[in-house]
Amino acid sequence: MALQNSLQKIHNPWVQRISRELASGEGVRLGFVEQLERFYELLEQAVMTGDIGWLDPILYDWGHAPTETNLDEGDYFVSFVINRMVSLTIEVARENLSKKDALELLAAVIPIYAHSLSVVVRYEMETRVAHISSELGKTQEKLQQLDRNKSSFISVAAHELKTPLTLIEGYTAMMADTVGASGQSQIQILLKGVDTGIQRLRHIIDDMIDVSLIDNNLLTLNFQPLWITHLLNLLKNELGKTIADRKLSLLINKFSGDDLMIYGDSERIYQALYNVTTNAIKYTPDNGTITINGRLLPGFIEIIIADSGIGISTEHQAVIFEKFGQLGRADLHSSGKTKFKGGGPGLGLPITRGIIEAHGGTIWVESEGYDEVKLSGSTFHILLPTRTEASDPRIAKLFSQMETIKTESETNLSDKENPSTNNSSA
Ligand code: ADP
Repeated sequence: MALQNSLQKIHNPWVQRISRELASGEGVRLGFVEQLERFYELLEQAVMTGDIGWLDPILYDWGHAPTETNLDEGDYFVSFVINRMVSLTIEVARENLSKKDALELLAAVIPIYAHSLSVVVRYEMETRVAHISSELGKTQEKLQQLDRNKSSFISVAAHELKTPLTLIEGYTAMMADTVGASGQSQIQILLKGVDTGIQRLRHIIDDMIDVSLIDNNLLTLNFQPLWITHLLNLLKNELGKTIADRKLSLLINKFSGDDLMIYGDSERIYQALYNVTTNAIKYTPDNGTITINGRLLPGFIEIIIADSGIGISTEHQAVIFEKFGQLGRADLHSSGKTKFKGGGPGLGLPITRGIIEAHGGTIWVESEGYDEVKLSGSTFHILLPTRTEASDPRIAKLFSQMETIKTESETNLSDKENPSTNNSSA
C-alpha cells in the first residue's frame, strides 16, 4: 500500500522532471509527456502486479522508434533515455519521499528498469541491424547499377569505335594497293605497321564486345560436334611462328578424351584455348616450355595448359578472371600481343571464363606464386562437359534427321540385298 502511495506521490514530479531534462522544445515535450504518462502507468501496473511484462508493448514501440537520422548517426537514443530515467527516478524519489519509502520504491522499480533496458537494447539492436542491412542492400543496388553502366559503356564504346576503324582499315587497304602498284617499299612497311595497329585495335574492340555479351548473358553458343585434338592442332599451327620467334617449346600431348566427339561451340572453345595459350606464351620467358595435357573424367574433359613462366601470386589469382583485373598495371600495357609480359586490357581471361562457363564448364589456375627467377609457372585447368548430344534443338533435329536418313538408306540397302524380307513385311 505504501508503495502504491509513493508511486502516486512522485507521479507528477517524475513526469515533469524527466520531460524537462530529456525533451527540448515545447512541441517535442508535449508528445514526450504523453509517452511518459503511458510508461508510468504501465510501470505502476508492473510494480503492483509483480509482472514486468506490462511494459513490453511500450518498450517495443520505443525500441523500434529510432528515425533514419538516429540510425545514421549511430545514436542509441532509447537506451540512453531509460538510463537517464533511472537516475532521475532516484533523484525524484529522494526529493519527494521519506528515506524508507524511497528505498522501498527504488527496490521495486530498479529491476523493472533493468529489464526494460535489456529489452530496449535488444529492440534497438534489431532495428539497427535491419537498418544496416537495408543500407547494404541499397549500396549493393548502386554497385550493380554502376556495373551495368560500365558494361553498357563498354558495349557502346566498342560499337562506336568499330565504325571509324573499319573506315581506316578500308583506306589503308586502298593506300596499300596504290603504293603496291608504284613499288614504294618504304611506305609499304609503314602501311604494314598501320595494319598491325588496326588488327590489334580490332582485337581489343572484339574483346570489349565479347565481355559485354558475357556480362549481359547474351553470349550465344553455336553447338556443333567437335574434337579437342582438332582445336589443339589448329592452335599449334596458328602459334607455330610465335613459338619459334620466342624460342619456346609447345608440347601438345595426346590424352584420353582428346579425340572424343563432344558438342560445343568450336569457335568459342578455340578462342578460350587460344587466350590461355597466348597468355602462357606472354608470361613465359624465351626458351621456356608450354605443355598442353588433359584427361577424361566422368562427364568431363579436363584440358591442362601449363607453362614454365613467371607464375601468378595468390592474390592476383583471385582477380585475373574478373574483367579489367589487370587494370592497375598500366606499366605493362600496350606491349606486343605475344611479347614477354606484354599485358593487354585484361579481358582475355574473363572472356575465357565466360565461354567455358556458358558451356557448363569451369576454369581455374594453379600457381606457386609470382617468381621471375624460379619460374615455377602457372597451370590453367579447363573442365568441359562431354556433352554427347547437342543442346541446340535445331542441331539436335538436324543430326537426328541425318540418323533417320542413314537408317532409312541402310534399310533400303538391306531390302535390296534381301528381297524376301521386303516381301514378308509387305
Ligand atoms: P591480359 O590482356 O592482361 O593478358 P588476361 O585476362 O588474358 O589479360 O590475363 C589477366 C592477367 O593474368 C594477365 O595480365 C597476367 O597478369 C595474368 N596471367 C594470365 N595468364 C598468365 C600466365 N600463364 N602466367 C602468368 N600470368 C598470367
